[in-house]
Amino acid sequence: MHATTSDMIDLELALLKRGLDGLSASCQRCDRCHRAPLVGERIYLYDSGSARCELCRVRERTAPSGSRTVHGPEFGHSLRMIDQRAALSQAPDQRAA
Ligand SMILES: [Zn+2]
Repeated sequence: MHATTSDMIDLELALLKRGLDGLSASCQRCDRCHRAPLVGERIYLYDSGSARCELCRVRERTAPSGSRTVHGPEFGHSLRMIDQRAALSQAPDQRAA
């Protein structure tokens, strides 16, 4: 069996799509615009369970119950977290559970 250039491009695109789908499934999206916030951007959490990005937060009438910074996939793996105070203060919904 001999793979053609077209087959290799199709394989690369399929692998890229699978990687992006897996990455996007693991990140939280804004419930209004469905945009995935960028790393370092803040996402705002509301009592109803919805989340809003920086851009959509100004359109909300109620104040958010909390917010957190969006981290990249390497967060928690590339550095050894000794002081957990910052991580605990950014996840108010996990403290209640
Ligand atoms: Zn948004």
